Amino acid sequence: MDDIVNKPQPFIYDMTRPFWTAAKNNKLVLQQCQRCKTFNFFPKPWCIECGSRELVWTDAKPTGTVYSFTISRTVAMNYLGWQKDLPVLLCLIDLDDGVRMYAQVTDCSPEDIRIGMRVAVHFESISDEAGIPKFHPA
Ligand SMILES: [Zn+2]
Repeated sequence: MDDIVNKPQPFIYDMTRPFWTAAKNNKLVLQQCQRCKTFNFFPKPWCIECGSRELVWTDAKPTGTVYSFTISRTVAMNYLGWQKDLPVLLCLIDLDDGVRMYAQVTDCSPEDIRIGMRVAVHFESISDEAGIPKFHPA
């Protein structure tokens, strides 16, 4: 667990807890507006499309497409827990439910990552109360 401890942990509060708890249980959830059905990410108190506050945590499709990426070859901000993961593929993923999520793509070499690559979610447990979604080539 030392490598996990030495990575930054999410600041979890009431609005974001369902996301982290679901990921701990290997599920991807997003807030969905009950008025216009738009999915919202990151978590917020009102719908980005229509302003409704009727947002319900909903199972999301576990797939998406790489919108963009960068390859990190050095440890950022002295978080040595990242060292064994290098190089890290840091990506913007366009989920099939229409939101863009910042996430790591794993099980893919830096030479093989591509914009437009189809990816599927998997999860890593990062604490007693949180997991984090990551993606791998679909
Ligand atoms: Zn809405």
